[in-house]
Amino acid sequence: MKKVSFFQSVHVKTVLIYMLLIIIAMQIIGVYFVRQLEATLKDNFKTSIIDKVNILSYYLEEQLTQEKPPEDGAASVEEGVRRLLLDYRSGDIAEVRVIDGKTLKIIGTSEPDNQIVVGQKTTDTRIRRTIATAQSDDQELVEPETGKRIWVLVSPVKSNGEVIGAVYVVSKIENVFGQMQDINRIFSTGTALALAITAILGIFLARAITRPITDMRRQALALAKGNFSRKVKIYGHDEIGQLAATFNTLTKKLQEAQATTESERRKLSSVLSSMTDGVIATDRRGRVILINEPALQMLDVSRETVLSTPLVSLLELEEEYTFDELLSEGESVLLNYSTATNPYILRANFSIIQKETGFVNGLITVLHDATEQEKIEMERREFVANVSHELRTPLTTMRSYIEALADGAWQDKEIAPNFLNVVQNETERMIRLVNDLLQLSKMDSKDYKLSKEWVDLVVFFNRIIDRFELTKEENINFERMLPEKAILVEIDPDKLTQVLDNIISNALKYSPAGGQITFKIKEKEDDVVVSISDQGMGIPKGKVSKIFTRFYRVDKARTRKLGGTGLGLAIAKEMVEAHDGQIWARSIEGKGTTIFFSLPYEKYEEDEWN
Ligand code: ADP
Repeated sequence: MKKVSFFQSVHVKTVLIYMLLIIIAMQIIGVYFVRQLEATLKDNFKTSIIDKVNILSYYLEEQLTQEKPPEDGAASVEEGVRRLLLDYRSGDIAEVRVIDGKTLKIIGTSEPDNQIVVGQKTTDTRIRRTIATAQSDDQELVEPETGKRIWVLVSPVKSNGEVIGAVYVVSKIENVFGQMQDINRIFSTGTALALAITAILGIFLARAITRPITDMRRQALALAKGNFSRKVKIYGHDEIGQLAATFNTLTKKLQEAQATTESERRKLSSVLSSMTDGVIATDRRGRVILINEPALQMLDVSRETVLSTPLVSLLELEEEYTFDELLSEGESVLLNYSTATNPYILRANFSIIQKETGFVNGLITVLHDATEQEKIEMERREFVANVSHELRTPLTTMRSYIEALADGAWQDKEIAPNFLNVVQNETERMIRLVNDLLQLSKMDSKDYKLSKEWVDLVVFFNRIIDRFELTKEENINFERMLPEKAILVEIDPDKLTQVLDNIISNALKYSPAGGQITFKIKEKEDDVVVSISDQGMGIPKGKVSKIFTRFYRVDKARTRKLGGTGLGLAIAKEMVEAHDGQIWARSIEGKGTTIFFSLPYEKYEEDEWN
């Protein structure tokens, strides 16, 4: 976090505000107080001067109105005035002049250095006006030579209501301003002192406020880093103290919430990683934010490369879907990653992460390996199509023959038996097909059980070969290469009879005239292998492994003519596998085919009994 600059800090702000308050208060008090004081001091000064002038006027009246001898009258008046004025030569008064009311001549001055003005006629308009109007006159002036302020007062001297003269006083009012200046100085010093004390107090006050706040700030920073152990110190029970206490409670709650979230997260992540299904979560723009291990394996990608890539491109769905379309896709989507040799199909189910307000927060995709399921489904569909096809072929043939018979062919003695023969053959083939299907469906059902018994395989095999030898065409040779001793195996005789019937009838079917069919039994370590070889047309190389698939025929037209259903070897395979054995074929095209099957067998069992 950025550091608070010095001038923005609460410290400086508090101190500044306090100082401003003090300055404003001092200014207001100062202006009012100084004005008032100045007025009072001036009033006092003027009153004292006026009092002195009044006393002087009283004595002057006496001097100016006394009976004087005619020869030295003027001189004695001036002498009297001079003596009177001697007392006014000091203190606040700079000079006092006395003017005669009739002649307007100056008859005395208190200033010893200015005695030349005595006897001169005054030119001062203020004096003339006072004598004329009998009204006092005063004015504050600045002495041009010294620059000091003076107060000039002109007061009439009356006798019996008549103006007989005037007193002109120049007083040093500057003294009052000097006093004011001293007071102002004291006031300024006081203000400065108050400001300094306020600043110091302000710093302490600001610190008292900011210290818990700084503490809380540090705590908040620690919280952001996940450290919940700190606590804010509570300095008092004021608002800030309460805030600090609330902050501590908040920290505790946050810690609890964090712990809950963390445990939920751990639970979720362990659930996700222990799931066998793949899970992918995206944000609301469709970018991957979470993917579990199974999903990574299913899609064969690494976590680093897929995080924050768009989901549609991760699932290779860009061409069919946009992310918004996936959001509205309620059903699941099949993702086919199969190659020519490797089937691989995933089923993706989508569910939207939505707030209560309906705001879409993201999408959860669950991936499930559906390869097996889809393979089974495909096989089922193929099987149904095959069965329908296999049933339809004989039925259409039969219908055309029956139609022909109905149309009158039944009367033809040569054609009718032929046609009926075909219908009979097709019916039989259909019955065989349905029987084979029933057989397969019985084996597919879960509660299918073999009824096993111990049988000597050599005796058992010989008996079946004997049966075929009775019905075979004469030009086909049978060769038996069977062990002399008994081979004891635990089998279901009915089922194994059917296996051998199917294999041997195929060998007979595909054997050319004069061909030989060889029957063998070979003992191995853990099993016994039975094989039936013919010298027939053989099977092309790539198709050998497919002959055990239901309805598979190498040459469809040919085998159908031979009456095959395409299910014989498939049934044989199911039955051998039910005996925990294996079945396989080896064939050279044009030379012949050998069908092998193995059965579990314990070689030394017989010896032990002996
Ligand atoms: P089908 O009833 O048609 O004979 P099978 O399941 O018994 O059905 O055999 C499947 C296919 O395998 C046959 O259609 C045939 O093309 C081939 N086949 C089976 N056995 C032999 C064999 N001994 N020689 C040549 N081809 C064979």
